[in-house]
Amino acid sequence: MIMNEMQTEIVKVDASAPEADVITRAGETIRKGGLVAFPTETVYGLGGDALNPESSRKIYAAKGRPSDNPLIVHIARMEDLEPVCAKIPAEMLRLAEAFWPGPLTMIVPKAGGVPTETTGGLDTVAIRMPDHPVALELIRAAGGYIAAPSANASGRPSPTLAEHVAEDLDGRIEMILDGGEVGIGVESTIVDLSGEVPTILRPGYVTEEMLLRVLGKIQTDPTLMQHIEGGRPKAPGMRYRHYAPKGTMTLVEGNAKEVAEQINRMVEAAAAEGQKTGVLCTDESMGAYRADVVQSLGSREEMRAIALHLYRALREFDAQGVQVICAESFSREGFGQAVMNRLLKAAGYTVLQV
Ligand code: AMP
Ligand code: MG
Repeated sequence: MIMNEMQTEIVKVDASAPEADVITRAGETIRKGGLVAFPTETVYGLGGDALNPESSRKIYAAKGRPSDNPLIVHIARMEDLEPVCAKIPAEMLRLAEAFWPGPLTMIVPKAGGVPTETTGGLDTVAIRMPDHPVALELIRAAGGYIAAPSANASGRPSPTLAEHVAEDLDGRIEMILDGGEVGIGVESTIVDLSGEVPTILRPGYVTEEMLLRVLGKIQTDPTLMQHIEGGRPKAPGMRYRHYAPKGTMTLVEGNAKEVAEQINRMVEAAAAEGQKTGVLCTDESMGAYRADVVQSLGSREEMRAIALHLYRALREFDAQGVQVICAESFSREGFGQAVMNRLLKAAGYTVLQV
C-alpha cells in the first residue's frame, strides 16, 4: 500500500477538562475530512467524519484494515441517535439509559444517510456514546458523528496510550490527542439488537449479567470463547486474527502451582532452542517465573488492572522481540469474559489445560 506520508501533530489535552482551542482545531480537521486519534474510556479511537465516505476510506487505509470490517459510529447526544437509525428498538433506549455514556456499542438497522463505507457494506450500524470528556467534546465539535475504530494498525493490540497510536499511525493521520492512559483498556461490549434476541458479539466492561438485568434476555455469540470449526463470528472484526503479538502465545489454565510449573517447563524448552521467551502473569505469581521477559498485569484480585495492562504488555513483548509467550489465564466470570476473549484471540485459541 502506498500512503502519502504526512506530518502527524501530537497535542496534549487535559483528559478531564479539554482545552477548547485544541478541541475546536481537532473538530475542524475531522469536518474537513481528516483523521484525529483521541482517547476514550475504553481504548484510543481513530476518528473521521462518520457521514463522509471518503473519511471512512481513509480510516481503513491508515489502519490497513479490511474494508468489510465496519466502523463504530460515536455520538455525544441522544438527539443525534435518530438520524442514523432506521429503527430504534425499545431495548436500545433502555440500554442507553442504563449504560450511556459508556463502554457499550449497539447494532441496529442503519438510516440511509450513513454511508456503506462506514458500515463495511452492511445495512446495520454500530453506535456508541463514549464516556470521556475529550471524546464527547470532539464529537460535538466535529458535527455529531465520528466513525472510530481502535487507533492501532490492523492486527496490532489496541492502544491504551497515545504513544501506542504514534507507534502505529505516525505519518498516516493528521493529529493525535494525547489525554494520557485510558480507563478500561479493552474495547466496548457490542450488542446486536437487529435480530430476534439481543446478542453479545464482543464481550467488554458491560457484562452479560449487567445486560441481562436490563433486558431480561440476552445471548452470546458462541464463537467468542472457543474455536468452533466452521464457526463464523457475527461481528466481522472478530473474525480476523486480532490483538495478536508477533510471538506465538499459549494460554495455560489450571491451578496456580501447576500452571507455573508447566509454564517454566515450556519456557525452558523454548530457551533451549534459542528462542526469546516471555511470561504474562500476575503480582501473586511473578516471582515463580524464569524467562527473558516476565510481565505482571497486576493483582489477580483486580480484574480492572489486569484488563488495563493487557494490550500494553502484548506490545512490550513485540518491542522486546519475544518469540514464545506463555500466559496465565483468568476466570471467565463477569468482566473476566472480556479479558479471556482477548487473551484467547491473542493466543489463536491455543489453550493448555494442566
Ligand atoms: P473496533 O472499532 O476496532 O473496536 O472494531 C469495531 C468492531 O465492531 C468490529 O469487530 C466490527 O466488526 C464490529 N461492528 C461494527 N459495526 C458492526 C455491524 N453493523 N454489525 C456487526 N459488527 C459490527
Ligand atoms: Mg480494533
